Amino acid sequence: MVKYTYKEFKSVLNKLKYPDSWFWSRYTLNTYSGCAHACIYCDARSERYYIEDFENEVIIKTNFDKKLDQRLKRARTLLPDVIAPGGVNDAYQPIEKKIEHTRKVLQVIAKYKFPINIATKSKLVTRDIDILRKIADDTWCTVGFSITTTEEELAKFLEPYSSLPSERLAALKKIKKEAPNIQAGTYFIPIIPFLEDKDDSLEDVIRETKKAGADFILFSPGLTIRDSQAEYFLKKLKESKYKPIIKPLLELYKGQIHPPSEYSKKINNKLWNLCQKYKVNIRVKRWIPSDFRKWNYKISELLLNKEYIDALKTGKSNKTLMWAGLNLNNLEESILDVYNRDELHTIKNINPKIIEFIEPYLEKNKELKQRKGLEKFL
Ligand code: SF4
Repeated sequence: MVKYTYKEFKSVLNKLKYPDSWFWSRYTLNTYSGCAHACIYCDARSERYYIEDFENEVIIKTNFDKKLDQRLKRARTLLPDVIAPGGVNDAYQPIEKKIEHTRKVLQVIAKYKFPINIATKSKLVTRDIDILRKIADDTWCTVGFSITTTEEELAKFLEPYSSLPSERLAALKKIKKEAPNIQAGTYFIPIIPFLEDKDDSLEDVIRETKKAGADFILFSPGLTIRDSQAEYFLKKLKESKYKPIIKPLLELYKGQIHPPSEYSKKINNKLWNLCQKYKVNIRVKRWIPSDFRKWNYKISELLLNKEYIDALKTGKSNKTLMWAGLNLNNLEESILDVYNRDELHTIKNINPKIIEFIEPYLEKNKELKQRKGLEKFL
Protein backbone atom coordinates (compact mmCIF):
# COMPACT_ATOMS: atom_id res chain seq x y z
CA MET A 1 0.00 0.00 0.00
CA VAL A 2 1.56 3.27 -1.10
CA LYS A 3 1.41 6.17 1.33
CA TYR A 4 0.84 9.56 -0.29
CA THR A 5 1.87 12.76 1.43
CA TYR A 6 1.67 16.38 0.33
CA LYS A 7 4.61 18.68 0.76
CA GLU A 8 5.61 22.09 -0.58
CA PHE A 9 9.06 22.34 -2.19
CA LYS A 10 10.94 25.56 -2.77
CA SER A 11 12.42 24.79 -6.14
CA VAL A 12 10.36 23.62 -9.11
CA LEU A 13 12.72 23.82 -12.07
CA ASN A 14 16.37 22.76 -12.33
CA LYS A 15 18.57 24.06 -15.10
CA LEU A 16 21.28 21.74 -16.42
CA LYS A 17 24.66 23.23 -17.22
CA TYR A 18 24.63 21.43 -20.56
CA PRO A 19 21.72 19.80 -22.39
CA ASP A 20 21.27 16.07 -22.23
CA SER A 21 22.55 14.87 -25.61
CA TRP A 22 20.06 11.98 -25.80
CA PHE A 23 16.81 13.62 -24.71
CA TRP A 24 17.90 17.21 -25.52
CA SER A 25 16.49 18.43 -22.20
CA ARG A 26 17.87 21.58 -20.55
CA TYR A 27 15.49 21.76 -17.60
CA THR A 28 14.18 19.01 -15.37
CA LEU A 29 11.26 19.03 -13.02
CA ASN A 30 9.80 16.41 -10.71
CA THR A 31 6.12 16.75 -9.85
CA TYR A 32 6.44 13.80 -7.46
CA SER A 33 9.17 12.42 -5.23
CA GLY A 34 9.24 8.62 -5.16
CA CYS A 35 7.64 6.36 -7.73
CA ALA A 36 4.87 3.82 -7.20
CA HIS A 37 5.75 2.01 -10.44
CA ALA A 38 8.35 0.32 -8.24
CA CYS A 39 10.53 -1.12 -11.04
CA ILE A 40 12.90 -3.55 -9.37
CA TYR A 41 15.99 -2.26 -11.23
CA CYS A 42 15.26 1.45 -10.70
CA ASP A 43 18.42 3.45 -10.14
CA ALA A 44 16.53 5.94 -7.97
CA ARG A 45 16.90 3.38 -5.17
CA SER A 46 20.64 3.96 -5.07
CA GLU A 47 22.07 5.96 -2.19
CA ARG A 48 23.09 8.92 -4.35
CA TYR A 49 19.45 10.06 -4.65
CA TYR A 50 18.68 9.92 -0.91
CA ILE A 51 15.04 8.97 -1.52
CA GLU A 52 13.83 7.01 1.48
CA ASP A 53 11.20 4.35 1.02
CA PHE A 54 11.22 5.13 -2.66
CA GLU A 55 8.12 3.28 -3.83
CA ASN A 56 6.13 3.06 -0.58
CA GLU A 57 5.89 6.75 0.18
CA VAL A 58 5.24 9.10 -2.70
CA ILE A 59 5.35 12.84 -2.07
CA ILE A 60 3.05 15.02 -4.14
CA LYS A 61 4.65 18.43 -4.49
CA THR A 62 1.91 20.93 -3.66
CA ASN A 63 1.32 24.15 -5.60
CA PHE A 64 3.75 22.94 -8.24
CA ASP A 65 1.79 24.42 -11.15
CA LYS A 66 1.42 27.81 -9.44
CA LYS A 67 5.09 27.95 -8.51
CA LEU A 68 6.15 26.99 -12.01
CA ASP A 69 3.85 29.66 -13.42
CA GLN A 70 5.49 32.30 -11.18
CA ARG A 71 8.97 31.02 -12.05
CA LEU A 72 8.35 31.19 -15.80
CA LYS A 73 6.52 34.53 -15.60
CA ARG A 74 9.34 36.20 -13.68
CA ALA A 75 12.08 34.50 -15.66
CA ARG A 76 13.39 37.24 -17.89
CA THR A 77 16.74 35.49 -18.17
CA LEU A 78 15.29 32.03 -18.63
CA LEU A 79 15.63 31.10 -22.28
CA PRO A 80 12.98 28.65 -23.49
CA ASP A 81 14.43 25.17 -23.81
CA VAL A 82 13.35 21.56 -23.45
CA ILE A 83 11.83 20.61 -20.09
CA ALA A 84 11.95 16.95 -19.03
CA PRO A 85 9.41 16.03 -16.35
CA GLY A 86 10.32 13.02 -14.25
CA GLY A 87 13.85 11.79 -13.80
CA VAL A 88 13.78 9.80 -10.66
CA ASN A 89 10.03 9.23 -10.86
CA ASP A 90 7.34 8.79 -13.48
CA ALA A 91 5.14 11.85 -14.04
CA TYR A 92 2.30 9.43 -14.92
CA GLN A 93 2.46 7.07 -11.97
CA PRO A 94 -0.93 5.67 -10.78
CA ILE A 95 -2.01 8.55 -8.46
CA GLU A 96 -1.79 10.95 -11.42
CA LYS A 97 -5.01 9.52 -12.86
CA LYS A 98 -6.93 10.80 -9.86
CA ILE A 99 -5.24 14.10 -9.03
CA GLU A 100 -4.12 15.38 -12.49
CA HIS A 101 -1.04 16.95 -10.93
CA THR A 102 1.24 16.57 -13.97
CA ARG A 103 -1.59 17.66 -16.28
CA LYS A 104 -1.81 21.02 -14.48
CA VAL A 105 1.94 21.46 -14.84
CA LEU A 106 1.73 20.70 -18.58
CA GLN A 107 -0.86 23.46 -18.92
CA VAL A 108 1.65 25.94 -17.49
CA ILE A 109 4.40 24.67 -19.80
CA ALA A 110 2.02 25.06 -22.75
CA LYS A 111 1.11 28.61 -21.63
CA TYR A 112 4.76 29.70 -21.75
CA LYS A 113 5.49 27.73 -24.94
CA PHE A 114 8.41 25.72 -23.58
CA PRO A 115 9.26 22.50 -25.46
CA ILE A 116 8.97 19.25 -23.55
CA ASN A 117 10.28 15.67 -23.54
CA ILE A 118 8.37 13.13 -21.44
CA ALA A 119 9.64 9.65 -20.63
CA THR A 120 7.05 7.32 -19.16
CA LYS A 121 6.00 3.73 -18.59
CA SER A 122 2.32 4.62 -18.42
CA LYS A 123 -0.47 4.66 -20.99
CA LEU A 124 -2.02 7.50 -18.97
CA VAL A 125 0.05 10.02 -20.94
CA THR A 126 -2.52 9.67 -23.76
CA ARG A 127 -5.07 11.41 -21.50
CA ASP A 128 -3.07 14.62 -22.09
CA ILE A 129 -2.79 14.37 -25.89
CA ASP A 130 -4.78 17.62 -26.16
CA ILE A 131 -2.13 19.64 -24.29
CA LEU A 132 0.82 17.78 -25.79
CA ARG A 133 -0.52 18.39 -29.29
CA LYS A 134 -0.72 22.11 -28.53
CA ILE A 135 2.86 22.15 -27.22
CA ALA A 136 3.99 20.30 -30.38
CA ASP A 137 2.12 22.83 -32.54
CA ASP A 138 3.57 25.83 -30.72
CA THR A 139 7.11 24.53 -30.24
CA TRP A 140 8.18 20.85 -29.84
CA CYS A 141 6.96 17.83 -27.95
CA THR A 142 8.51 14.39 -27.60
CA VAL A 143 7.07 11.41 -25.75
CA GLY A 144 9.23 8.33 -25.18
CA PHE A 145 7.87 5.10 -23.75
CA SER A 146 10.34 3.12 -21.76
CA ILE A 147 9.96 -0.41 -23.18
CA THR A 148 12.63 -3.07 -22.71
CA THR A 149 10.71 -6.29 -23.32
CA THR A 150 7.50 -7.43 -25.00
CA GLU A 151 7.16 -10.41 -22.62
CA GLU A 152 4.30 -9.43 -20.33
CA GLU A 153 5.19 -11.84 -17.51
CA LEU A 154 8.76 -10.60 -17.38
CA ALA A 155 7.60 -6.96 -17.52
CA LYS A 156 5.19 -7.61 -14.65
CA PHE A 157 8.11 -8.91 -12.60
CA LEU A 158 10.50 -6.08 -13.49
CA GLU A 159 8.00 -3.19 -13.51
CA PRO A 160 5.10 -4.41 -11.36
CA TYR A 161 2.85 -1.32 -11.34
CA SER A 162 3.48 0.18 -14.78
CA SER A 163 1.31 -0.28 -17.84
CA LEU A 164 2.08 -3.50 -19.71
CA PRO A 165 4.41 -3.22 -22.73
CA SER A 166 1.45 -3.94 -25.05
CA GLU A 167 -0.43 -1.02 -23.45
CA ARG A 168 2.57 1.29 -23.85
CA LEU A 169 2.87 0.30 -27.51
CA ALA A 170 -0.86 0.92 -27.99
CA ALA A 171 -0.42 4.35 -26.36
CA LEU A 172 2.47 5.12 -28.70
CA LYS A 173 0.31 4.15 -31.67
CA LYS A 174 -2.56 6.31 -30.41
CA ILE A 175 -0.30 9.34 -30.07
CA LYS A 176 1.11 8.95 -33.57
CA LYS A 177 -2.40 8.50 -34.97
CA GLU A 178 -4.12 11.33 -33.12
CA ALA A 179 -1.26 13.81 -32.92
CA PRO A 180 1.39 13.01 -35.55
CA ASN A 181 3.16 16.30 -34.77
CA ILE A 182 4.28 14.81 -31.43
CA GLN A 183 7.60 13.04 -31.84
CA ALA A 184 7.14 9.65 -30.16
CA GLY A 185 9.17 6.51 -29.75
CA THR A 186 10.75 4.00 -27.42
CA TYR A 187 13.46 4.35 -24.82
CA PHE A 188 14.94 0.84 -24.86
CA ILE A 189 16.86 1.45 -21.64
CA PRO A 190 18.13 -0.38 -19.59
CA ILE A 191 18.48 -3.84 -21.11
CA ILE A 192 18.75 -6.52 -18.43
CA PRO A 193 21.51 -9.02 -19.33
CA PHE A 194 20.34 -12.65 -19.57
CA LEU A 195 16.67 -11.61 -19.36
CA GLU A 196 16.18 -9.14 -22.19
CA ASP A 197 19.25 -9.40 -24.41
CA LYS A 198 18.53 -12.51 -26.50
CA ASP A 199 18.40 -11.83 -30.24
CA ASP A 200 14.68 -12.59 -30.48
CA SER A 201 13.82 -10.38 -27.51
CA LEU A 202 15.79 -7.45 -28.92
CA GLU A 203 14.13 -7.83 -32.30
CA ASP A 204 10.64 -8.06 -30.76
CA VAL A 205 11.02 -4.64 -29.13
CA ILE A 206 12.33 -3.00 -32.31
CA ARG A 207 9.74 -4.62 -34.58
CA GLU A 208 6.79 -3.80 -32.32
CA THR A 209 8.00 -0.24 -31.84
CA LYS A 210 8.22 0.20 -35.60
CA LYS A 211 4.75 -1.32 -36.04
CA ALA A 212 3.36 1.24 -33.57
CA GLY A 213 4.59 4.02 -35.86
CA ALA A 214 7.48 5.30 -33.74
CA ASP A 215 9.76 8.10 -34.89
CA PHE A 216 12.77 6.80 -32.95
CA ILE A 217 14.25 4.19 -30.66
CA LEU A 218 16.94 5.19 -28.19
CA PHE A 219 18.78 2.16 -26.86
CA SER A 220 21.39 1.46 -24.25
CA PRO A 221 22.40 -1.72 -22.47
CA GLY A 222 23.30 0.44 -19.47
CA LEU A 223 21.75 -1.40 -16.51
CA THR A 224 23.61 -0.11 -13.45
CA ILE A 225 24.05 -2.19 -10.33
CA ARG A 226 24.94 0.11 -7.50
CA ASP A 227 24.80 -0.09 -3.65
CA SER A 228 21.21 -0.22 -2.29
CA GLN A 229 19.72 -0.46 -5.78
CA ALA A 230 21.84 -3.57 -6.52
CA GLU A 231 20.88 -5.09 -3.18
CA TYR A 232 17.17 -4.68 -3.88
CA PHE A 233 17.42 -5.91 -7.47
CA LEU A 234 19.39 -9.05 -6.52
CA LYS A 235 17.02 -9.77 -3.64
CA LYS A 236 14.03 -9.66 -5.99
CA LEU A 237 15.79 -11.90 -8.50
CA LYS A 238 16.67 -14.36 -5.74
CA GLU A 239 13.01 -14.67 -4.70
CA SER A 240 11.89 -15.31 -8.28
CA LYS A 241 12.13 -17.91 -11.01
CA TYR A 242 14.81 -15.69 -12.58
CA LYS A 243 17.26 -16.56 -9.80
CA PRO A 244 19.60 -18.51 -12.15
CA ILE A 245 20.72 -15.30 -13.87
CA ILE A 246 22.30 -13.91 -10.69
CA LYS A 247 25.55 -15.85 -11.05
CA PRO A 248 26.24 -15.01 -14.74
CA LEU A 249 25.11 -11.42 -14.12
CA LEU A 250 27.62 -10.91 -11.31
CA GLU A 251 30.32 -12.63 -13.35
CA LEU A 252 29.59 -10.26 -16.25
CA TYR A 253 29.76 -7.13 -14.08
CA LYS A 254 32.85 -8.26 -12.10
CA GLY A 255 32.01 -5.92 -9.23
CA GLN A 256 31.59 -2.88 -11.52
CA ILE A 257 28.54 -0.61 -11.65
CA HIS A 258 28.21 -0.70 -15.44
CA PRO A 259 28.37 -3.64 -17.85
CA PRO A 260 31.78 -4.13 -19.53
CA SER A 261 32.31 -2.12 -22.73
CA GLU A 262 32.69 -5.26 -24.86
CA TYR A 263 29.23 -6.40 -23.79
CA SER A 264 27.69 -2.96 -24.47
CA LYS A 265 29.38 -2.81 -27.86
CA LYS A 266 28.00 -6.22 -28.84
CA ILE A 267 24.42 -5.35 -27.81
CA ASN A 268 24.60 -1.88 -29.34
CA ASN A 269 25.72 -3.34 -32.67
CA LYS A 270 22.87 -5.81 -32.71
CA LEU A 271 20.38 -3.07 -31.96
CA TRP A 272 21.83 -0.72 -34.50
CA ASN A 273 21.56 -3.41 -37.21
CA LEU A 274 17.98 -4.12 -36.18
CA CYS A 275 17.09 -0.42 -36.33
CA GLN A 276 18.57 -0.29 -39.83
CA LYS A 277 16.62 -3.40 -40.80
CA TYR A 278 13.35 -1.86 -39.57
CA LYS A 279 14.29 1.65 -40.71
CA VAL A 280 13.89 3.40 -37.36
CA ASN A 281 15.89 6.47 -36.32
CA ILE A 282 18.24 5.91 -33.41
CA ARG A 283 18.30 9.55 -32.31
CA VAL A 284 15.62 11.98 -31.18
CA LYS A 285 15.32 14.95 -33.54
CA ARG A 286 16.28 18.03 -31.58
CA TRP A 287 14.20 21.12 -30.82
CA ILE A 288 15.77 24.11 -32.58
CA PRO A 289 15.09 27.64 -31.24
CA SER A 290 14.36 30.45 -33.67
CA ASP A 291 16.54 33.04 -31.85
CA PHE A 292 20.31 33.55 -31.99
CA ARG A 293 20.87 29.97 -30.76
CA LYS A 294 19.42 28.44 -33.91
CA TRP A 295 22.69 27.49 -35.64
CA ASN A 296 24.47 26.79 -32.36
CA TYR A 297 21.87 24.12 -31.62
CA LYS A 298 21.89 22.74 -35.16
CA ILE A 299 25.68 22.38 -35.23
CA SER A 300 25.66 21.04 -31.68
CA GLU A 301 23.14 18.36 -32.74
CA LEU A 302 25.32 17.52 -35.73
CA LEU A 303 28.44 17.10 -33.59
CA LEU A 304 26.75 15.18 -30.79
CA ASN A 305 25.03 12.83 -33.25
CA LYS A 306 28.36 12.26 -35.01
CA GLU A 307 30.02 11.50 -31.70
CA TYR A 308 27.24 9.04 -30.85
CA ILE A 309 27.38 7.20 -34.20
CA ASP A 310 31.21 7.12 -34.22
CA ALA A 311 31.14 5.65 -30.69
CA LEU A 312 28.64 3.00 -31.81
CA LYS A 313 30.96 2.04 -34.67
CA THR A 314 34.19 2.00 -32.71
CA GLY A 315 33.06 1.40 -29.13
CA LYS A 316 35.09 4.47 -28.10
CA SER A 317 33.79 7.91 -27.25
CA ASN A 318 35.46 11.08 -28.55
CA LYS A 319 35.48 13.52 -25.62
CA THR A 320 36.72 16.50 -27.64
CA LEU A 321 33.89 16.14 -30.13
CA MET A 322 31.39 15.66 -27.33
CA TRP A 323 32.53 18.76 -25.44
CA ALA A 324 32.65 20.82 -28.63
CA GLY A 325 28.99 19.87 -29.18
CA LEU A 326 28.01 20.61 -25.60
CA ASN A 327 29.88 23.90 -25.27
CA LEU A 328 28.13 25.33 -28.31
CA ASN A 329 24.90 25.37 -26.30
CA ASN A 330 26.33 28.00 -23.98
CA LEU A 331 27.67 30.33 -26.67
CA GLU A 332 26.24 33.81 -26.12
CA GLU A 333 26.15 34.74 -29.79
CA SER A 334 25.45 32.91 -33.02
CA ILE A 335 28.17 30.60 -34.32
CA LEU A 336 27.55 32.23 -37.73
CA ASP A 337 28.85 35.54 -36.35
CA VAL A 338 31.90 33.78 -34.92
CA TYR A 339 32.43 32.09 -38.28
CA ASN A 340 32.10 35.37 -40.17
CA ARG A 341 34.87 36.80 -37.96
CA ASP A 342 37.00 33.72 -38.71
CA GLU A 343 37.18 32.94 -34.99
CA LEU A 344 35.74 29.42 -34.75
CA HIS A 345 39.00 28.25 -33.14
CA THR A 346 38.23 30.43 -30.10
CA ILE A 347 35.22 28.25 -29.18
CA LYS A 348 36.16 25.70 -26.55
CA ASN A 349 37.06 22.26 -27.98
CA ILE A 350 36.49 23.31 -31.61
CA ASN A 351 39.72 22.08 -33.23
CA PRO A 352 40.81 22.23 -36.92
CA LYS A 353 39.33 18.81 -37.65
CA ILE A 354 35.94 19.84 -36.26
CA ILE A 355 36.13 23.16 -38.15
CA GLU A 356 36.69 21.22 -41.38
CA PHE A 357 33.62 19.11 -40.60
CA ILE A 358 31.22 21.97 -39.75
CA GLU A 359 32.43 24.58 -42.27
CA PRO A 360 30.28 23.36 -45.20
CA TYR A 361 27.15 23.78 -43.06
CA LEU A 362 28.12 27.25 -41.91
CA GLU A 363 29.26 28.38 -45.35
CA LYS A 364 25.79 27.63 -46.74
CA ASN A 365 24.16 29.81 -44.11
CA LYS A 366 26.54 32.61 -43.29
CA GLU A 367 24.54 35.21 -45.14
CA LEU A 368 21.61 34.68 -42.80
CA LYS A 369 21.08 37.55 -40.41
CA GLN A 370 21.30 36.41 -36.80
CA ARG A 371 20.07 38.33 -33.81
CA LYS A 372 23.10 39.11 -31.71
CA GLY A 373 23.84 38.35 -28.12
CA LEU A 374 21.61 37.93 -25.16
CA GLU A 375 20.37 41.55 -24.97
CA LYS A 376 16.72 40.55 -24.83
CA PHE A 377 17.29 38.34 -21.85
CA LEU A 378 19.68 40.37 -19.70
S1 SF4 B 1 9.01 4.25 -13.70
FE1 SF4 B 1 11.10 4.99 -13.76
S2 SF4 B 1 11.34 6.16 -11.87
FE2 SF4 B 1 9.52 4.89 -11.62
S3 SF4 B 1 10.26 3.07 -10.59
FE3 SF4 B 1 10.27 2.67 -12.80
S4 SF4 B 1 12.35 3.17 -13.46
FE4 SF4 B 1 12.03 4.09 -11.45
